[in-house]
Amino acid sequence: MLTFEDDTISPAIPAIAAVPVPPDATATTRVQAVHKRIINGQTDVNQLVPFKYHWAWDKYLAGCANHWMPQEISMARDIAQWKDRTAMSDDERLIVKRNLGFFTTADSLAANNIVLGTYRHITAPECRQYLLRQAFEEAIHTHAYQYIVESLGLDEAEIFNAYHEIPSIRAKDDFLIPFIATLTRAEFRTGTPAADQALLRALIVFACIMEGLFFYVGFVQILALGRQNKMPGAAEQYQYILRDESLHCNFGMDLINTIKLENPALWTEAFRAEVAELMAQAVALEYRYAEDTLPRGVLGLNAPMFKEYLRHIANRRLQQIGVAPLYPGAVNPFPWMSEMVDLKKEKNFFETRVTEYQTGGALRWE
Ligand code: FE
Repeated sequence: MLTFEDDTISPAIPAIAAVPVPPDATATTRVQAVHKRIINGQTDVNQLVPFKYHWAWDKYLAGCANHWMPQEISMARDIAQWKDRTAMSDDERLIVKRNLGFFTTADSLAANNIVLGTYRHITAPECRQYLLRQAFEEAIHTHAYQYIVESLGLDEAEIFNAYHEIPSIRAKDDFLIPFIATLTRAEFRTGTPAADQALLRALIVFACIMEGLFFYVGFVQILALGRQNKMPGAAEQYQYILRDESLHCNFGMDLINTIKLENPALWTEAFRAEVAELMAQAVALEYRYAEDTLPRGVLGLNAPMFKEYLRHIANRRLQQIGVAPLYPGAVNPFPWMSEMVDLKKEKNFFETRVTEYQTGGALRWE
């Protein structure tokens, strides 16, 4: 049986066969799985099959199966609660506003990082396919925050300028931006050990720190509101976002670990120490953000719980890429968060919407 990896077959289309073709043309033009590389691979990055990185294709399919859109979720109860001065405390309102302030910028930074940076430097078509799906999901997340801000009638200037005006949000963005800028610089090219390490470092910051750590205080806070039947529409959207983000994060880990396997020389002791140091800085920044969003204990949450939680997550992220944990013994004070990721396909946990997405259901040909 002929396979895509059989480079001895002759061109099947007569018109092409009529053109003089050197006997070994298919050997030089047909992509074989074995030749694919995540970075510094073949210049022809258009041949999705033969598959080599099945994990990337599987995540692309999983992302599509999780499809959702913000406007499908009712904000009616949230709007009523937001208008009712007795329904939510000022501290609870601050959580909503601060989180929207951070997330509106964060997901657009994430999209820029993929579209203007990462995508160009990844030479595996399976991974690029996933990144295209991920980029759209970042757009859906930015759409979700805009939808919540608009539904609640929040001060748009206040929310969308939070990254300029709230120091703990600014500090997180300032930490991320140099890494994103490395990849988006027009002249940046991989292919040298230093450049390949710069790419790997930026991918680690993006997957393990930005998507893997910086989103989690916000996720806990908004989902804690939802667990008390406050802001149920916003919380439901954050639950979908959390599900998407855990897939983004897992894709990033697989990407990083495969680059390590294919380029073991990049993974030096000094590089691992640098990754651990970046993670320690990120934990401090995210803790500052937790204190800023939660000046007083509320919803059974307080800032010291987040210190433990962030240490627990940082350990996990480091272990997932093969770096020793920084905070041995850290435990998860929010075990309920793991249930939040496991949305049932039949119904979500707020039981407001059937989550089986009907991709073909709206098509009409007449
Ligand atoms: Fe993301």
